[in-house]
Amino acid sequence: MSVANARQIVIAARPQGKVRLTDFRLEETAVPTPGPGQVLLRVQYLSLDPYMRNTMEDRQSYASPTPPGGVMPGESVATVIGSQHPSYSVGDIVLAHTGWRTHALSDRADLRKLDSATAPVTTALGVLGMPGFTAYGGLRVIGKPAPGETVVVAAASGPVGSLVGQLAKLAGARAVGIAGGLEKCAYVKDELGFDAAVDHGAPDFAAKLAAACPDGIDVSFENIGGAIWQAVLPLLNNLARVPVSGLIAHYNDVGQGDGPNLLPGTMRAILTKGLTVRGFINYDFAAEHYSAFLAEVGAGIADGRIRYREDVVDGLEKAPEAFIGMLEGWNFGKLIVRVDGGL
Ligand code: NDP
Repeated sequence: MSVANARQIVIAARPQGKVRLTDFRLEETAVPTPGPGQVLLRVQYLSLDPYMRNTMEDRQSYASPTPPGGVMPGESVATVIGSQHPSYSVGDIVLAHTGWRTHALSDRADLRKLDSATAPVTTALGVLGMPGFTAYGGLRVIGKPAPGETVVVAAASGPVGSLVGQLAKLAGARAVGIAGGLEKCAYVKDELGFDAAVDHGAPDFAAKLAAACPDGIDVSFENIGGAIWQAVLPLLNNLARVPVSGLIAHYNDVGQGDGPNLLPGTMRAILTKGLTVRGFINYDFAAEHYSAFLAEVGAGIADGRIRYREDVVDGLEKAPEAFIGMLEGWNFGKLIVRVDGGL
């Protein structure tokens, strides 16, 4: 038996350049019934993440493409409301890959039970989840900041960048954040404790970044590409490390994209400065580092050394607008959709 009051958001059309609201469609569906070995999940909090933009394209990427008509993918915090699985009971709260919907079935082994006594459950989508681990893995395995070195990261008020800077500080390095607007910059410097924060919207952004990095840059945690990389490139020191985490500035590119061709300058710097430039996807490091991440960052949150911020939007139907806004920098902190009132 099924009840027709579940909702989901599917891709209506592949975006041409910038994502538009008409690229999504809200659908009503039946609430499914769990079969043997399955649980029925009711989504409480849905995570919106930049990588989802890549799944909207039909191109080779680490994120598999979602076909038109397919449900947008995504992680969520959900409550088990029906169970035919021996390890899960009704009422359990789990981290799950449900996609953008109110209800989902799962028989996956990768559901993670969450305990709100350890940390607020929404942190499993941000600082204590995939984005947090991206910061941790990229910095520890590739960036390896030494005391006194300078670490630069953009999208510095977001879940990845904010943790990169805080972990850099805990490692004894200097942290310089790049963010959009004075309010985000003030948060990065005053509340997160970065040494400096630079607004990438300022007309003299490149000069301000240079002034904030008087000893050059030893680790550039690359989240954006485009104009950020253009400003960072001349400041990189010999043997600098560049963990390439994301390239938001290019996610909407069509063809070669706009802007200057930075390839020759980039290749020259890699050669002459002996740069280490390495792209990574967080799960590359999971087997070796995930439990240490949970323990270390969890302890930092519990004792207040690590801070985080969430930007919560109400209602599944608001997800497309919020997602488009995130790609433009409208979010302030980890972007989460509270679905049907949350918990
Ligand atoms: P955020 O929540 O920080 O949101 C994205 C932010 O990017 C915006 O708020 C905006 O911040 C900034 N931004 C967007 N466009 C531009 C632009 N053109 N120039 C400068 N800044 C821009 O995102 P996350 O912390 O979740 O993700 C950060 C990066 O990490 C992304 O590139 C993402 O793809 C990547 N990532 C990589 C993973 C991996 O495994 N490799 C996993 C998770 C994330 P502002 O207003 O401050 O500019």
